[in-house]
Amino acid sequence: MISVEQHLSRIMGTVKVIRPFELGVLDAQGCVLAEDITARGSLPGFTNSAMDGYAVHAADVASATPEDPVVLPVVNDIAAGNTHALSLAQGQTMRIMTGAPMPRGADAVVPVEATDGGVVRVQVRQRSVVGQHVREAGEDVEAGDVVLRRGTLLGPGQIALLAAAGIARLKVVPRPRVVVLSTGDELVQVGLTPGFGQIVDSNSVMISAAVTAVGATPFRVGGVKDDARELMDTLEGQLVRADAIITTGGVSMGAFDTVKEVLSRVGTVQFDKVAMRPGMPQGFGLLGDEQVPVFTLPGNPVSALVSFHVFVAPALRAMAGRPEPSYPPGYVPAVASEPFTSVPGKMEFLRVVLDGDSARLAGGQGSHMLGALAAADALAVIPEDVTSVQAGDAIECLPLLGREGL
Ligand code: AMP
Ligand code: MG
Repeated sequence: MISVEQHLSRIMGTVKVIRPFELGVLDAQGCVLAEDITARGSLPGFTNSAMDGYAVHAADVASATPEDPVVLPVVNDIAAGNTHALSLAQGQTMRIMTGAPMPRGADAVVPVEATDGGVVRVQVRQRSVVGQHVREAGEDVEAGDVVLRRGTLLGPGQIALLAAAGIARLKVVPRPRVVVLSTGDELVQVGLTPGFGQIVDSNSVMISAAVTAVGATPFRVGGVKDDARELMDTLEGQLVRADAIITTGGVSMGAFDTVKEVLSRVGTVQFDKVAMRPGMPQGFGLLGDEQVPVFTLPGNPVSALVSFHVFVAPALRAMAGRPEPSYPPGYVPAVASEPFTSVPGKMEFLRVVLDGDSARLAGGQGSHMLGALAAADALAVIPEDVTSVQAGDAIECLPLLGREGL
């Protein structure tokens, strides 16, 4: 028996960041930047108005007050998108809209609210100072600036900057492509009615959803029979498109545990008993010429999802180039609202409902119990040496994917 930390550290020591790839800016959402990005142009690219109003020489309206407005002739209208370079003479004004280029000579914008809104002649009722309501070219970003560093996780804000800075394609660590397959003669495709002795293959759907939730791309193969030839052929066929493979089922002590049988003969997959509950039988290793990481998770759905959270999610994040928070990753503190018991010598992952920071059991804790799994918000992590938790005790929880922040 090995510890959870031992198994996780073998995995984290083996997986590698995926080779960078060039993507279009929109497809790069959620990816980690693999190069420093330099702005092609300045932002703003030209000096423009921050308000709907009147472009002026500030000196012309220095004495303006509501009681004694300054009247200026309006000699032009400048809309956003106007591409003509205009000049404003002293003693005149132009109506200008937000985002429209400032005419040469003008050094301030009087908001329309501080005027009578005139179109031929305007009464300016408020003084203005140089630079007021003007967005200077380059005040945000200067051409040639490094605007984003390699290693940055790209979200909508970063994508906007890239687009505005003229970057249409960029090098990122691509999302890991993850082949998900489940094994078992008892499985029928989701949507079909299982006959006596059969069950719906919920694992491949669940694990695919989990893969998506960590920002990777699942390829769901679905159910494969407990047949060594079929499994080997399927794995070989899938290897070409996989950055990682996740299997469920067939790794325990049964007579038809095909995954274990097949993968013990090829690659470097090592099968271990890990001191955890649920999720004791685990396998991990590399397969094929491309050394594709393979995670063989146990078949019971709760065991498979717990294993995904504890071992696969951190590995996929590392492969995507994301900086992983220090171990244990993502734990949040909570308080037990009722007593829990836990087996000695194993790290226990109890399915709990969180109410604020108060944790109670989410129903039955059997590793086949999807009803309780679906009710849960988090996994309460009870260390190996703790066998009982009292109401009021501080505990640590791992939020379930998709339930974070509830
Ligand atoms: P195994 O690890 O193959 O011995 O399976 C353990 C338990 O998990 C058995 O009750 C299986 O029927 C169940 N199981 C295995 N694969 C799946 C799956 N894809 N979806 C739902 N349950 C499964
Ligand atoms: Mg099985």
